[in-house]
Amino acid sequence: MTSRDWRADREAVFDRDAFTCRHCGTDGGDDPEMLRAYPVGEVPLEGDVHESALVTVCDECFETLDSPRATEAPATDDLFHLVRETTRLQGTTISAVADFASLATSLPSTLESALEEETDADVGESVSEYRRTRRDILLAVAVVDARLERLASLDDDTYDPAIQRPLAAFSDTAAELQSTLREVIALSETVAVGLERCQGCFDPIEGETCSTCGLKGRETANWQEDDGTLAFERLFATINERLQGASETTETLTDRTTALAEQLTAA
Ligand SMILES: [Zn+2]
Ligand SMILES: [Zn+2]
Repeated sequence: MTSRDWRADREAVFDRDAFTCRHCGTDGGDDPEMLRAYPVGEVPLEGDVHESALVTVCDECFETLDSPRATEAPATDDLFHLVRETTRLQGTTISAVADFASLATSLPSTLESALEEETDADVGESVSEYRRTRRDILLAVAVVDARLERLASLDDDTYDPAIQRPLAAFSDTAAELQSTLREVIALSETVAVGLERCQGCFDPIEGETCSTCGLKGRETANWQEDDGTLAFERLFATINERLQGASETTETLTDRTTALAEQLTAA
């Protein structure tokens, strides 16, 4: 990905994020040169990219995200560290995604009570929280993806089969968890679209594409009642089911991490 083909008000993005990397927390306040705007979500990267699709990262995190392939195979000690750190990051990501889902499922009633009470105060707060949480989880998922991609780029014969086998089992389960998390995010975004808002910037959306950020609205056909309204209850139940599934997969992942760790420390 190059940043030459699209434009953005990077300074505004950095300012919004307090000149701090949203992944590792590195403060770039004294040296904004080390900060980069990283695009998240499916906003087309052409012309002016809206701030809701950009998140501040430091140079080092940008590097990890941009070129995840391993240049050389990590030694078993480093592999152990990489796997353990990936599991930890994925764990943090799961709870952040669960928070996002809970925020998304509260939106219909937040908007409804704002209509009744004729005040937008809570809506404004929920909307900025929605935008921020969404950007953060999309970044968190991308970071874990990059780490898993790095593991996947290692050749099959890099390590002893005694390590290779539990490593493959770990990678498979971690990838399964990633895809469940992406599904929960997509379902939570569907709540926004059901409220006739853009799933990225949350501005009212008319037609297929958001006129503010250029994001294509999520498909809601599967979630429509016969009368054309969105089946929020069914959607919420599915979100909870998937989150439950994610927590079960996490248990499997913990077992697999332990099995791999045993092989690595025995090596
Ligand atoms: Zn960073
Ligand atoms: Zn939008």
